[in-house]
Amino acid sequence: MIWEELETGLATLAADGLLRRRRTLDAPCGPEAVVDGRRALAFCSNDYLGLANHPAIVAAACDAAARWGVGSGASHAVSGHLRPHEEIEQRLAAFVGRERALYFATGYLANLAIVPALVDRHDAVFADRLNHASLIDAVLLSRAEHIRYPHGDTATLAERLKQSRARRKLILTDAVFSMDGDLAPLPELFELAERFDAWLVVDDAHGFGVLGPGGRGSIAQFALPDSPRLLLMGTLGKAAGVSGAFVAGDRRAIEWLMQRARSYIFTTASSPLLAAALLVGLDLIEQGEDRRSHLRRLIERLRSGLAALPWRLSPSSTAIQPLLIGGNEASVRLSEQLFSRGLWVPAIRPPTVPAGAARLRISLSAAHSDAHVDTLVAALRDCARRDRA
Ligand SMILES: *Cc1c(COP(=O)(O)O)cnc(C)c1O
Repeated sequence: MIWEELETGLATLAADGLLRRRRTLDAPCGPEAVVDGRRALAFCSNDYLGLANHPAIVAAACDAAARWGVGSGASHAVSGHLRPHEEIEQRLAAFVGRERALYFATGYLANLAIVPALVDRHDAVFADRLNHASLIDAVLLSRAEHIRYPHGDTATLAERLKQSRARRKLILTDAVFSMDGDLAPLPELFELAERFDAWLVVDDAHGFGVLGPGGRGSIAQFALPDSPRLLLMGTLGKAAGVSGAFVAGDRRAIEWLMQRARSYIFTTASSPLLAAALLVGLDLIEQGEDRRSHLRRLIERLRSGLAALPWRLSPSSTAIQPLLIGGNEASVRLSEQLFSRGLWVPAIRPPTVPAGAARLRISLSAAHSDAHVDTLVAALRDCARRDRA
């Protein structure tokens, strides 16, 4: 029976150290978490600017609930597109300097919209091997040929683009890789998109709000031109502190998504209070240079503090700082040792990362203090000493 097979499957996951366990928080998202009834210093969230519980955003959400209610009642195309949704789209387009933006309930849905709307089974997607799961699923849904190139390897990508006879080509990449923290070679990818007449779709979930002038993201950091072949996806549940996502680009591409993307059309519009909260979140991002420079200093502090450990820190200059451990069990053990000392750093295992590449994913936020980072550094040094002894 199917449920007995599931039981075997679950037992296999447990035996392989792959069972996921959720912890329940009893405090808002922030460095000082209350989790499973205990206090812990958290290095887990994607709340890179510390906005998730910002009083001005909370107040905007409350005001908007009073003004607009909570539910939107329908999909955007039917009757669920309220004024705050319209305003956030216009603000986002202006902020990232593209013709138009479309607001989505989540980044996962945005990615599922983009790829199948642009390519089908006559076409080919050229995807970085370390792309986020939502991008992989988007390609599967499109039925396009899925051509994966080694991480960041633009020479191999150029070769594969040259060989391809596909009708349409689409290059698909994370801007900041979510489990490694490194950046895609965006200028080279854009040059290849031009040379081979391809779309370039960039998922900036971890760059938006953090990188580039004014937090405008990775595209702005690399000063990529405003080209119709470039589509930008940004998420709003990470640095922007709320939830949702957007796709920005050429007005025809955005109109096409609105007309055709099934994950846009066949889902209820998210609450207007979230869009209203995001308007304030965008103001805080725009004025967030102090938060961003504090975050950059914390990254430096962590990296120099951990330089002498037996585990290697990935070459990342972003808020995502993975400590590479290797084995699943060893990663979980280290994560548990830290937790017993009141530090919460998640162990990331396959299938989120390749087999043998389990790690601790340390993520920093502007809400952390120097002392928070020093506490983590001291604990990891101590764990390393005990590991050797
Ligand atoms: C988090 C994430 C997403 C999904 O965004 P949600 O809004 O959480 O659904 C997509 N792509 C990348 C790279 C991400 O890290």
